Amino acid sequence: MLIADKGPTAQRTRTGEEALPLNKLTLKTPETHHAPSPLSPLPLLLPFPARDTRTGTESVIIVGSGPAGYTAAIYAARAGLRPLVFEGLTAGGVRGGQLMTTTEVENFPGFPDGISGPDLMDRMRAQAERWGAVLLTEDVESASIASGPPFTVRGSETVASAHSLIIATGATAKRLGLPSEKRFWSAGISACAICDGASPLFKGAPVAVVGGGDTAVEEALYLTKYAATVHLLVRSGALRASAALANRAKDHPRVVIEFNTAIIDAEPDARGGANLGGLALSDTVMGATRRLAVRGLFYGIGHTPNTAWLGGAVPLDGGGYVETVHGGPDTAVQGVFAAGDVHDSEWRQAVTAAGAGCKAALAAERYLAERGLLPEEEEAAGGSMDEEEEEEERAGAPATPAREVEAAAPVAVTAASASSASSAPSASIHSPAPVAASPAVGRTRQPVRKGEAAPAAAQPATASASPVASGSDVDTSALAHKGQVALRRLYHESSKPLVVLYTAPTCGPCRALKPILHGVAREYEGDIHLVEIDIAADPDIARAAGVAGTPTVQVFKDKARLTSVPGVKSKREYRALVESALGA
Ligand SMILES: Cc1cc2nc3c(=O)[nH]c(=O)nc-3n(C[C@H](O)[C@H](O)[C@H](O)COP(=O)(O)OP(=O)(O)OC[C@H]3O[C@@H](n4cnc5c(N)ncnc54)[C@H](O)[C@@H]3O)c2cc1C
Repeated sequence: MLIADKGPTAQRTRTGEEALPLNKLTLKTPETHHAPSPLSPLPLLLPFPARDTRTGTESVIIVGSGPAGYTAAIYAARAGLRPLVFEGLTAGGVRGGQLMTTTEVENFPGFPDGISGPDLMDRMRAQAERWGAVLLTEDVESASIASGPPFTVRGSETVASAHSLIIATGATAKRLGLPSEKRFWSAGISACAICDGASPLFKGAPVAVVGGGDTAVEEALYLTKYAATVHLLVRSGALRASAALANRAKDHPRVVIEFNTAIIDAEPDARGGANLGGLALSDTVMGATRRLAVRGLFYGIGHTPNTAWLGGAVPLDGGGYVETVHGGPDTAVQGVFAAGDVHDSEWRQAVTAAGAGCKAALAAERYLAERGLLPEEEEAAGGSMDEEEEEEERAGAPATPAREVEAAAPVAVTAASASSASSAPSASIHSPAPVAASPAVGRTRQPVRKGEAAPAAAQPATASASPVASGSDVDTSALAHKGQVALRRLYHESSKPLVVLYTAPTCGPCRALKPILHGVAREYEGDIHLVEIDIAADPDIARAAGVAGTPTVQVFKDKARLTSVPGVKSKREYRALVESALGA
């Protein structure tokens, strides 16, 4: 049994920040907003509870949820291996991987008209779930590999062991490490043009992109939708991007390519200095320095493979990529396989990563079969069946590769590990999504034979898990709302804490965050409101709130903004924000 929910925590923090001047936008009923009380943050009162430990040994654990991880999950699940997938949360990008930060993917086979990166990843995820993969939206912090097999993986909330392990943790965008990088991160500096480009901060303003490869050029071209001018800052004297992309950039009237240019540091704007206002640059040939006024700086300077969690237990090459035998899925450690960008520094494409995920799953299946460790073989050897399974076996029921639903288990909400937006709160993480979506089931077994589809087709994960009220009809008793009308009304009329999620239509990480935040909000139903603001649809609100990138979560109480948190965080961090606001 697994209890993944940590419940509300006792963390109390509060940052006294400037109140959002929403009242300035509300002309009908102007109100004076309260200044936030100048409370300094309190230290954590309690440590968070320990991780859940899964009993029994899994057949295969997959770490990573890009094209490599999800493809491995689909193959392993269809082979009846019941894969456990640690999807990741913040450690190496977001759930869904690098394609969550791009717009159109035009070269993935099967989509003649292209498909958005987040849509493609949602579909892969749904396909993995449909076949019974168990998805945990959490980071892996470390693994015990040298002492295995079995190999033990320690996630931020769950510890599990498996006979085999597939490493599919991809790669993360590099940072420059500028002296002022931290100060202006999400206040002008960004690693994701697709996520943050629509911010009002950059609309009609000059921005810069650093890098000379495909990513940088693609970002520069994308940003021309919003920015007045895009300076493409290239350290060397030439672009490394493909000829087609490079020519598009050269021909674009609002892209200015500046060769032999290095960034020394980021500088504040003239309006209080909270946001980026310019860059100090140097000429890499002549050594001359100059200042370039820009409001945004976007990074497109390559990637670092996400291997820190391996702790050196698997050999890496000089660039930090996992070494594999002849470029195949086998690593130097038997039973441990690698797939995708984490081991492939050369091809780095979604389709090659997916192919590598397929190979890794087939290799893991072969490895398990050779050792008599396939689930049915283990069970036949008197392995891991529980009493109920034995009873069904005696009654002649078919084997059940798909996981069972344990709606009756004492699980309130399966925390960050609850796999999909559509999962019922009471379903165990063992539940395949199509079954879990039916909250009426008690302890229901879904017999699904190897190679057979689960009963209902899973839908691609949708944005939100709760019914959302929007438009002029604001039901102030509802939990979740959308748009500025709802925000203004609740801001002025409700005494409950207001959790505001700022998103953008092209923001992939926003999709990963929504089910997490809605899950937390449901735990506090009746005590808080959740409002989603699309910054492209409501730029005035985003500007007034000082939102420079998406996703961003802000918490308000009594017309004071208590906190503003950019990016995707864990459920426990959002719970702490809510707890803090409730205690305020
Ligand atoms: C802007 C952009 C546009 C692109 N466009 C295209 C395109 O059009 N076509 C194309 O074919 N390719 C494209 N690519 C390349 C493609 O996205 C990658 O090659 C592909 O995503 C690699 O897949 P992957 O599964 O190996 O890794 P990733 O996609 O990087 O996924 C890695 C996964 O591992 C997880 N993870 C990392 N660390 C941990 C940890 N410690 N614990 C748990 N999980 C962890 C992450 O959350 C993530 O889910 C693009 C890349 C970028 C950046």
